[in-house]
Amino acid sequence: MKKLAMHGGIPARTEPLPPNYPGAVVMGAEEAEHAARVIHSQSPFRFYGADVQNTVQSLEMMMADKLGVAYALGVTSCTAALVVALKALGIGYGDKVIIPAVTFLATAGAVISSNAVPVFVDVDESLNLDPNDLERVMDKDVKAVIAVSILGNPCDMDGVMAFAAKHHIHVIEDVAQSCGVKYKDRYAGTIGDIGVYSFQMNKIITAGEGGAIVTRNSDLFERAVRYHDQGLLRPAFKELYGMEASEEASAFVGQNYRMSEITGAVLVEQWKKLDPLLHNMRQISERIRKQLAAEIPSMVFRKSADYEGDIGSNIGFQLRSAADADLLLQASAAENITMYRLYGGKPVYMLPQILFQRTAERNNFPFDYPFANPVVYSEHMCPRAEDLLNRTVFMPISPILTEQDEAEIIGGIHKIYSTLGF
Ligand SMILES: *Cc1c(COP(=O)(O)O)cnc(C)c1O
Repeated sequence: MKKLAMHGGIPARTEPLPPNYPGAVVMGAEEAEHAARVIHSQSPFRFYGADVQNTVQSLEMMMADKLGVAYALGVTSCTAALVVALKALGIGYGDKVIIPAVTFLATAGAVISSNAVPVFVDVDESLNLDPNDLERVMDKDVKAVIAVSILGNPCDMDGVMAFAAKHHIHVIEDVAQSCGVKYKDRYAGTIGDIGVYSFQMNKIITAGEGGAIVTRNSDLFERAVRYHDQGLLRPAFKELYGMEASEEASAFVGQNYRMSEITGAVLVEQWKKLDPLLHNMRQISERIRKQLAAEIPSMVFRKSADYEGDIGSNIGFQLRSAADADLLLQASAAENITMYRLYGGKPVYMLPQILFQRTAERNNFPFDYPFANPVVYSEHMCPRAEDLLNRTVFMPISPILTEQDEAEIIGGIHKIYSTLGF
């Protein structure tokens, strides 16, 4: 048997894999040309200028069209999109919002920025929110649940929607990491009340920064438009969607989370590349998974609520123990095969700002609200999240991997599993 690179053998690959930025690695002439048009038109703002190119509006139309919803709104980030979504739903001080223990800090941060307080549920074997754990944290102050699709894999939305319907609470889908992911043939982000997307560089398609919200509901859309733009409903929106809200009756104070036309231009071109990107990542990850499963019967992959809907941006390997996961990480690094442990193995509630409920506000507002059931966080509050994060190792799948890359990845992983007896 071949020797592992970490034991002095020849590495499966001589070069590291391409970086894990699916949208950025296919960025090129199209984005440059479209952004240049905005600059030459001297109109980088969506609502006025010498010759507005309406790139943000085009992006919104393309998104709504493809995802099959009535409304999409470009904003500055997914963190902003989450805040806008929560505010559109009327959630704020004195409310609780359920979020999964496994998510990026932004999901929890946005809830707190909206003056509500997150409560955490554990994950199932897919590392996404476990609908069976929702009842445990439910009380009359919970107004919404945020279902997060972690690393390209859909959440069990039937379970989430049934729970939300039973308790008359709202559902936000955080699809930041998983643009294009589907659950039972429907795009994630279009199943609940509002879906939110990220176009930050580490996500699927990108303009460096950016985000969007989508919804089918015209009232939620109007509130979202207002909250993202100082409480205004500009003529452009009124004309486009036939909205005729009376300013006095429905105006409220908002923020500025407007997307720039330069971002819009880049994202229109990235959006056109989404399907080819997804196609490549799916095909490549499918081939790698199938071959590894055939060669290594003991291999366990991360579970999924719908394998068909997975976008293939990552393959998750489940090990028997955290120690085995450590070994796999060491061994794969030596073979020049990129792998990582998501969030360093820590559920989001373990981050100090969350665990200790620290905000920039007096009395740690909004945590100072006198909830009937106080919100207390503690280490190990979601044991399955801790266990699974620590013994799952992810391998990002770049859409530009070559056949040789695939063969070397498979060869390297096979060598590691058989040598170390995983
Ligand atoms: C990245 C991410 C966000 C935040 O996205 P930004 O566009 O960087 O603000 C929110 N939720 C999840 C699950 C994320 O991974």
